[in-house]
Amino acid sequence: MQQFLEIRRGLVKQYPNIILLYRMGDFYETFFEDAVEINRLLGITLTSRGKTVPVPLAGVPYMTLDSYLARLVKAGKAVGIVEQQGDSTTNKGAVPRKLVRIVTPGTLTESELLPSKADAALLALEPPLGKKAPEWSIVSLVLSNGAFKAMSVAEEELAGEIARIAPKEILVPDSIREKAQGFASGALVTPLPDWHFDPEHGAEQLRHHFQMESLDAWAVSEKPGILAAAGAVLGYVSQTQIESMPHIRPLVLEESSRFVGLDAATRRNLELTESLRSGGGPTLLSTIDHCLTAMGSRMLRGWITQPMRAPEVPRERHRAVGELVGDPDKCEELASALRPLPDLERIASRIALGSVRPRELAGLRDALPQLSKLSKAAAGCLSDCFKAAAPVLDPPQELSETLTRALLPEPAVTLRDGEVIADSFSDELRQLRSLRDHAGDFLTELEAREKQRTGIPNLRVEYNRVTGYFIEVTRGQADRVPADYRRRQTLKNVERFVTPELKGWEDKAIAARERSVQLERELYEGLVRSCSAWVERLTEASEAAASIDALLSLARHARDMEWTEPELSEQSGIVIRGARHPVVEKAIEHYVANDCELVPGRRLLVITGPNMGGKSTYMRSVALIALLALAGSWVPAQSARIGPIDRILTRIGASDDLAGGKSTFMVEMVEAAAILHQASSRSLVLMDEIGRGTSTFDGLSLAAAIARELADRIRSYTLFATHFFELTQLSQSCAEVANVHVRAIQSSGRVVFLHEVREGPASQSYGIAVAQLAGVPQRVIREARSTLRELEERSRLSGEQPDLFSSPGAGAQDEAPAEEEEDTEAQAALRLRDEIAALDPDSLTPRDALVRLYTLIEQA
Ligand code: ADP
Repeated sequence: MQQFLEIRRGLVKQYPNIILLYRMGDFYETFFEDAVEINRLLGITLTSRGKTVPVPLAGVPYMTLDSYLARLVKAGKAVGIVEQQGDSTTNKGAVPRKLVRIVTPGTLTESELLPSKADAALLALEPPLGKKAPEWSIVSLVLSNGAFKAMSVAEEELAGEIARIAPKEILVPDSIREKAQGFASGALVTPLPDWHFDPEHGAEQLRHHFQMESLDAWAVSEKPGILAAAGAVLGYVSQTQIESMPHIRPLVLEESSRFVGLDAATRRNLELTESLRSGGGPTLLSTIDHCLTAMGSRMLRGWITQPMRAPEVPRERHRAVGELVGDPDKCEELASALRPLPDLERIASRIALGSVRPRELAGLRDALPQLSKLSKAAAGCLSDCFKAAAPVLDPPQELSETLTRALLPEPAVTLRDGEVIADSFSDELRQLRSLRDHAGDFLTELEAREKQRTGIPNLRVEYNRVTGYFIEVTRGQADRVPADYRRRQTLKNVERFVTPELKGWEDKAIAARERSVQLERELYEGLVRSCSAWVERLTEASEAAASIDALLSLARHARDMEWTEPELSEQSGIVIRGARHPVVEKAIEHYVANDCELVPGRRLLVITGPNMGGKSTYMRSVALIALLALAGSWVPAQSARIGPIDRILTRIGASDDLAGGKSTFMVEMVEAAAILHQASSRSLVLMDEIGRGTSTFDGLSLAAAIARELADRIRSYTLFATHFFELTQLSQSCAEVANVHVRAIQSSGRVVFLHEVREGPASQSYGIAVAQLAGVPQRVIREARSTLRELEERSRLSGEQPDLFSSPGAGAQDEAPAEEEEDTEAQAALRLRDEIAALDPDSLTPRDALVRLYTLIEQA
């Protein structure tokens, strides 16, 4: 208890939510409030120990630690693991114990506890530090592959960058803990004392860890915010990993401007890696991910979550995909080498940490010949992506030899009972094992000898775990045993004895077994140490294999779904023929492909048409095609020319944040404001149904003003879906605006969606027809029709038409008076047509019909 309390005292200040798992033999025990807590969280039975002051106690078996760890960490706990030190049998008094690791969400390394298709990054955030570091500094580390990256970003972009990295845990200086919650998007925020974020100390830690004289080579010497955050990360890792420091790669300073900006809302709206549906539906990633290895899936996720602004890298990937699309044999050759590969990246990281399991090492041993096969296949390709990968993949011969020599063909799962190291690796081990293997001979011989000596025919030599070795005779024969037999146990029908000879032999056998387990442990530790020299090469090789896997997956999808190679052009704009939505096209049988042309002079498309007509699907298909192209994938279209894009920004759907106290309309406006601040003339903007959450005229005016701002002043490429039919008039005053609509036809009072995108505004509003389609009762439909007519009538009579043309600066009236007149006439005609279309003769009385007819003639 004293020992426990001492260890715990040293920890609670830094980790207030820590649970200590305290190794005692075959169990990890918890005490006091920890025991109560794991009883509450995991339902582990709570008992107590100690008579005078009972101590609550709950334990989990040592063999099943991982599954409990996963659940505790998920519940937001830090878990301290305390192990016994040295050999428990030789120590007198309390076994010495030591804290060996603290497990937190961002420092997990067990393959079983990590999501296999995503990385669990640890992040540190340092707020702006005045003139020398006016932006936020972000440093991220993925423990399972050593990727160590830094970036400075403006506050507006911070949330988007964090969403891109999707960390599991965020370290922040205590002074901004509350503010940081706002950026966390689901990650655990771990506040550290502010002095853990110290630029000078950070620089010192980096130099020390990487054995460098100066940090100039990484271009971070003049970046105090990054030095501070990097220092905090290194400090936290060494504090939690304690003795075994993971493999960490050199710090890479990334520019946020390298990637196409995708804010958190856009990632969500486009369903890149998470579905919007609560039950979880298909996503872009799940649709295109046919990777054969988990590393490949993680690589592909990285590509589509951070498409690139510069065209070079994606173009190389397009070429590589093209090569594979045209060469199915090559694909099969690469696939057959990839398929059996284990998660090399994570095995490598566990070698660095010294926690790799025997089975994982055996997996590595068996994977090495596959790597060399993959390397040969890659060397035979033409594209740069593969050629560059080939030499990196070629596995070190020496590692292969070492593993083959050291390990048994099928080693045991754990080291506990040995059976991991090959006989041939150590003479001593071979001798010890031979003693054990010949035990059977000795025992049979002893049994025969004792039968003869005692004259008891059914005497047997036996073994069980509790009693050890013994000689068993039936009760009736028990008084015939010789004097040197010592009674060990009496059961109902039998007596069990040992002899000095058997005891002596048993002691020797036990000692040999213990020694052999001990020896295997030592040999294994040595083996892991010698493997650690190859961690870096293995990590690089696994990365190369992952890229090939990702390219292969893209090629397979491109071929199966008849995608095409996009053109990444210097020319501004987006021109797509036959665009399809990559996820929707898989779900429905007849997808209607559509064109999209966003070019200078036609930067904003107002999209009208009935609900369910295909507006959002169309907009999303365009954004996803641009994103896929810049991620290096082929695209679902007949052809696509994508110009430079710096950001994709979206405002789609009404996601109520009622818990956050914001109304739908507020959320809508917050998102619109963010878009107007961030968008540039190189941005692709998707706006769906803006202005819906407020009164009609309010909403319409806002929607019109926002559209104008985007088209005229910001000049971004914008798809603007709206149910405000009035917005179709914008094209007359804004040179950059054009109208398109999704086609639908009415047939016998019902609406049929064609999902075709055509030039020009939609001709009718189909709201009521859609309601009918949805099964709203006929009576209600009839009433709605007649109310609609009344409203239209009234608004026409009072001349209450919102006038979009009179907005200041538009100048349409002054510049084009003739056009305007013509226009009013065209509008009147349109209105007349709408009114006629809205007539429902069946529901009119003869008298009503006559009145309507007169009114129409008057209007005409
Ligand atoms: P809107 O945004 O106009 O309300 P959606 O884009 O949500 O309409 O489309 C409604 C449904 O129509 C989709 O769920 C999809 O099944 C179908 N759809 C949309 N676009 C197409 C298309 N191009 N081809 C075939 N079906 C489509």
